[in-house]
Amino acid sequence: MPTLYFSEDESNYDILVLLTDNLHPNGKTKAATLLYLDGKKIIAADITIYESGLLYHDGEIIPVLQHELGHAIGLGHSNYAGSVMFPSLIVVDDEIIGHISECESEGVKTAYSSFVERVECNIE
Ligand SMILES: [Zn+2]
Repeated sequence: MPTLYFSEDESNYDILVLLTDNLHPNGKTKAATLLYLDGKKIIAADITIYESGLLYHDGEIIPVLQHELGHAIGLGHSNYAGSVMFPSLIVVDDEIIGHISECESEGVKTAYSSFVERVECNIE
């Protein structure tokens, strides 16, 4: 049974999250996820959140991190603007409308239902 561990040890991880105040080289991308694959299976992911201090200040870091974690577990982009996996943040009346929606829960169920019955979460 797969187990997900949270740790600050960078030497042994499944998903690494790097927060930096640097700009992405293209000057506009807020975050990126690099997947390490064994065939079609994701074995690890590196998430980089750019300008993290500014994103935190603007209240955008949580949806951006949720989006990248979605990529880290194998989700692609959604065409539904209310989905956290929509390719960009949509702000209406100062409120981010993207959230973890049925798109994400159905995507995860579809992606993992064939070989995972349950995922354990252990926080160290
Ligand atoms: Zn994306």
